[in-house]
Amino acid sequence: MGSSDRYDTLKRMDHTHLWHPFTQMQEWMGEDPCIIAEGDGSYLIDVNGNRYLDGVSSLWCNLFGHRRPELDEALKAQTDRIAHSTFLGLSHVPGIELAARLTAVMPPGLTRVFYSDSGATAVEVALKLAVQYWQLLGQTERTQFARLEESYHGDTVGAMSVGYSELFHHYHRTMLFPALSVKPPYAYQREQGLTEAEAMERSVAEARATVGREKDRLAAFIMEPVMQGAAGMWPQPAGYVRAIRDICADNGVLFIADEVATGFGHTGRMWACEHDGVTPDLMCVGKGITGGYLPLAATFATEQIFSAFLGEYGEFKSFFHGHTYTGNPLCCAVALAGLDIFEREALMETVPAKMTWLEQTLQADILSLPHVREIRQRGFMTGMELVKDKARGERYDPGLRIANQVVLEARRRGVIVRPLGDTLIMLPPLTISDAELATLVDVVRDSIRHVTEAS
Ligand SMILES: *Cc1c(COP(=O)(O)O)cnc(C)c1O
Repeated sequence: MGSSDRYDTLKRMDHTHLWHPFTQMQEWMGEDPCIIAEGDGSYLIDVNGNRYLDGVSSLWCNLFGHRRPELDEALKAQTDRIAHSTFLGLSHVPGIELAARLTAVMPPGLTRVFYSDSGATAVEVALKLAVQYWQLLGQTERTQFARLEESYHGDTVGAMSVGYSELFHHYHRTMLFPALSVKPPYAYQREQGLTEAEAMERSVAEARATVGREKDRLAAFIMEPVMQGAAGMWPQPAGYVRAIRDICADNGVLFIADEVATGFGHTGRMWACEHDGVTPDLMCVGKGITGGYLPLAATFATEQIFSAFLGEYGEFKSFFHGHTYTGNPLCCAVALAGLDIFEREALMETVPAKMTWLEQTLQADILSLPHVREIRQRGFMTGMELVKDKARGERYDPGLRIANQVVLEARRRGVIVRPLGDTLIMLPPLTISDAELATLVDVVRDSIRHVTEAS
C-alpha cells in the first residue's frame, strides 16, 4: 500500500512514547505492533491496509460495527450544537433525553441515572452510593462488600477492592480495602468436579451463609450477572442471579449488578439480569453504551436509594461525587443514536438466533478439536479453553502462552480475538453478518489447529 514508511515512523513513535494497558512493554517494543487506522463495519483496517474482523468488538464495546452512519451523524450533529457543558449545576438536552430513554429499557424499578466515564467509575459510584445510603439510614456499621471470586469490576482502587485477581492485584494489595468472597458455581465445578446443579447449590449455600453471618456489616453484594467476563468467561447457571438477589433481599443487603460487560444485549437479553427477572438495587453499565464510540458509563439506582439522599442542603445528604466530563453531551448523543438502532433493527429479536447459531457451530466445529477442553458461552460472550491433553485435562505449559499464539495466528489470517490465560475470548459486534460470523469461526478453528498441531 506504499505506506510502510508511515508504518515505520508510527512504530518508532509508539515504541518511544507509549505505555500500553495490561502490556509487558519490553515484549511489545520487540514486536511489530498492529496499528489501526480505520474501521469499516465489523472490520478494523491497519495503516498498511490489512483488514481484520473485529472478533472482540474492540474489547467488548462495539455493538453496531465501526463507522456506523447513524452514530457518525449523531456525533457530527451534536458537535454543531455543543461538545461539552458541565452537569454540575446545569443540565443539557442529550443527557436528559438519554436518561429517560435508558430508564425506559432498564429492569423495572431502576429509575435514576448517575453518569460517569468508564466501567470502573460506574462501579466506584455504585460502591460509594451503597455506603452512603446506609449511613443516611443510620446503619453506620454497614460498610463492607461481598463479591464473587475472580470477579472483575475495573482498575480503579475501589473497583479493584471488590474485584479479585491474584495476578493483577499482586503489587497493590496494600491499597485495597478488604471484601468478602463467595466462590461462584463455575469455580466449584472446576475445582471440585461438581455438576452444574451441585455447584450452584454449594455456591448459593455459601453466599447465604456468608451474607447471613455478615449482614450487619454488609453494605452490598456486587456481581457480574450470568457471565464473569474477565475471569475467562465463567458462566452462571440459570437461576443463580435470582438466588443471590433473594439472599440479599432476605438480609437487607443491597444487590449491585455490574453489567458493564453483559449489558446491551451481549448475553442475548438487553440485560443479563433479565434472564432471571431480577431488578438490582444498583446497576452499572458502560462498554456498549455508546456502541463503542466514546467513553461513557452510568450507574442506575432505585427510587428507594435515591430518596434516601434527599433533604435540606444543610443536612449534607447530597452525593458529593462527579467527574469533569460527567454526562458528556457528545457521548450522550451517540448513546441515543445507539438506542435508536436497537429499536429500529429490533436487535434483541434478531440477535439471539445468531447467538444460537454460533453456539451450535462452536460445539460442532471447535469443541470437537483435540485440544479444546470446553466452550463457555452466554449469548455472544464466548471463552474457548485450550488444553494439552483433553482426556487427562493436562494444561499447556503457561510459558507457551498457547492462547496468545492462537491470537497471533488468527491475526495473520485477518481476525482479532484475545487471550485470557489459556482461554480464547470472542465477543463479536451484535450486528456482525452471518457470513462474517462464519469467517470468524473458520479462522479461529484453523488457527487453533495450526498452533496446537505444532505444539
Ligand atoms: C470492562 C469491565 C469493567 C471496567 O470498565 P472500564 O470501562 O474498562 O473501566 C467493569 N466491570 C466489568 C464487568 C467489565 O467487564
